[in-house]
Amino acid sequence: MHGVVLSHLSPGLGPATPAELVDLLQQQLSSWIELDWEAIDPNLGSLTVLHGDSITDGAVEAGGEYVEALLSVDGGFDNGSDWLPSWAWQTAEQVERTFYRGMKSLSAAEYSRARAMVIEVPCGTASELLTQYEERQVSRVDAYEPIARDRLHVSPSGSWFWPCPGCRYPMLLRGGWLRCEYPPHDVYRYSLAPGEGDELPVLAGAAGRDRAEPRRADGVLCLAWGIWRFICCPGLAEVSLMRWLEAKKYFTSGRIVRWENRDAWDIGIYSPDGWQLRVDVKDVADPRRILDRLPAGETIVLPWHRAAQARELAGLLASVTTPDGLPYEVLTDRQFRTKISGLIKKATASR
Ligand SMILES: [Zn+2]
Repeated sequence: MHGVVLSHLSPGLGPATPAELVDLLQQQLSSWIELDWEAIDPNLGSLTVLHGDSITDGAVEAGGEYVEALLSVDGGFDNGSDWLPSWAWQTAEQVERTFYRGMKSLSAAEYSRARAMVIEVPCGTASELLTQYEERQVSRVDAYEPIARDRLHVSPSGSWFWPCPGCRYPMLLRGGWLRCEYPPHDVYRYSLAPGEGDELPVLAGAAGRDRAEPRRADGVLCLAWGIWRFICCPGLAEVSLMRWLEAKKYFTSGRIVRWENRDAWDIGIYSPDGWQLRVDVKDVADPRRILDRLPAGETIVLPWHRAAQARELAGLLASVTTPDGLPYEVLTDRQFRTKISGLIKKATASR
């Protein structure tokens, strides 16, 4: 890795030895790599790669952006991107193999039900998963595997894990901390103190309804990490909006279409009064990445934790249109709900 880093820096710059590199990786990239960070991405400049011996969540997130770049719009896998780090390549390949490949043979309705299951059921015992498959009329998705060791607490009373209160995925236990690695769920971070005797560790900083509760891990399977991070996590905001829309009596049955045309856009909304919207929910760290692959839907919704990007993204999309020529509208989750409620009110009043 030392050689790779040096090959990207001007001669004479950069760490002289691998040991020096390890030290520098504990500091912000902008403090030791001379680049125009404002032009690249200020967030990347303030990134530290290592904290002690562990890779930071920020570094994993930055890597995740490359994984997403490998997954093409139709869920295929772009084998041509062999310049990317092997970690990104392998993770994307795993997502493609265990999720998208199995989806190809499904009808649109089956595809939508299978995708919803992966988002709403991140873990469960084999029999719980079987019940979910039957109730949701989903054919088996090859996305579940045993829980990784670093998410388990093994005690004489058996193995335990803590589902994240935000996404239900087993939280990571490391260095005296229990946490969810999805950055918006960083609020679910608990310091651990050893329990008495055979008891489970005590969680500090866990208050109210968002307290993580331990669950027995025997026989429990959870989503492969890449599926959880790149399908389940961004899907939480999508499913929340879908459920909110579907609960409105105004929309007649079947007029809120989930992941329409095999996810060409996230939600198709067809009102009985003739107006329609195609919604794309965008959960990316750097809004400029959205320009690389323009959304098919004209209504872009940012989840609550990305609301601060609204102005910048609206500016970026002002000079372009959807592939079929419509201007984009960028809304935060809250603005979108207000807009829909307003449209319904107006349509109902004029009848
Ligand atoms: Zn979570």
